[in-house]
Amino acid sequence: MADAKKRALITGITGQDGGHLAGFLHEKGYEVFAIIRGQHNPRREAVVSEFPYVTLFDADLTDQSSLIRAMQVARPHEVYNLGAISHVGYSFKDPQLTNDVTGKGVLNMLEAIRLTDPENKVKFYQASTSEMFGGLEYNRPEKGYTEESSFHPRSPYGVAKLYGYWITKNYRESYDMFAVSGILFNHEGERRGVEFVTRKITNAVARIKLGLQDDLELGDLWPKRDWGYAGDYVRGMWLMLQQDKPEDYVLATGETHSIGEFLDLAFKEVGIDDWKPYVKQNPAFMRPAEVDVLLGDPTKAEKELGWTRDVDFPGLVKLMVEHDLAIESTKL
Ligand code: GDP
Repeated sequence: MADAKKRALITGITGQDGGHLAGFLHEKGYEVFAIIRGQHNPRREAVVSEFPYVTLFDADLTDQSSLIRAMQVARPHEVYNLGAISHVGYSFKDPQLTNDVTGKGVLNMLEAIRLTDPENKVKFYQASTSEMFGGLEYNRPEKGYTEESSFHPRSPYGVAKLYGYWITKNYRESYDMFAVSGILFNHEGERRGVEFVTRKITNAVARIKLGLQDDLELGDLWPKRDWGYAGDYVRGMWLMLQQDKPEDYVLATGETHSIGEFLDLAFKEVGIDDWKPYVKQNPAFMRPAEVDVLLGDPTKAEKELGWTRDVDFPGLVKLMVEHDLAIESTKL
């Protein structure tokens, strides 16, 4: 039977979640397709060697005709839109590109689906984010943000993602599409880029331990985040598309920790009890507007999707430090 396998199309295959999701869907027996951007994309080779089973298309979220072509060839049952300019700090430096890719890119993908799926069968996942809430300074739900909380984004990234969230909801309501948002709180792991604070810390801790680096420069240490493990979160994405009814879900751990607490655990992992001599503050890593505390309430996802997490906060720090020690020790 030619169509026995389910087919999925991923945008954002070069990012952290794209990698986790490609592996997860492949193990589930999916035929996996992904788009990759630009001529000579330096990450293409790495994607091809790590995911030989993924069929790649040259396409760009800002170029709708390329998305239509990808849809026509892949004919996916499920589309996961993970592609974005995804770094909050960077979005202040390039707000317009962030708007075009992270915001309007969602509309381009939804339209590409609508134009190529006359039977309205394709299921669409939009990677929405806790950055849309903007921190507890703006609203203070007791147990953390839920699917019902109000939004107050604090960066061009958050604003663009909020557009993506609403246009997804709008296409669901207007065209009866199975289009959902996962509102994911920070999720980290061994695939996280070093531009994000968790991986920047675990990579530096490993290098300091091995004598490859003397210290670490960071911005503000007081912000708190609800940090989970990315591998657990891609399972939640998939579960959302397996439901009978399209609905939005928060994925979070229900715990929040400061950057200082992350530093405590990461340095302890390599036997350093006091990290203060190693950490310097540099205003270059501070943001024009900061999100103070993020805390999510995953009750709906736990109850309705049966979503659970395998990795807790100490487990996350440990696995990231161990991974970076292994990688960095090859450079000795
Ligand atoms: P975000 O929550 O999506 O912005 O994820 P990040 O990992 O980029 O940032 C998490 C928090 O760490 C934010 O409050 C940042 O301001 C803070 N932070 C402090 N120092 C740094 C740094 O050197 N790099 C990054 N990326 N964030 C930092």
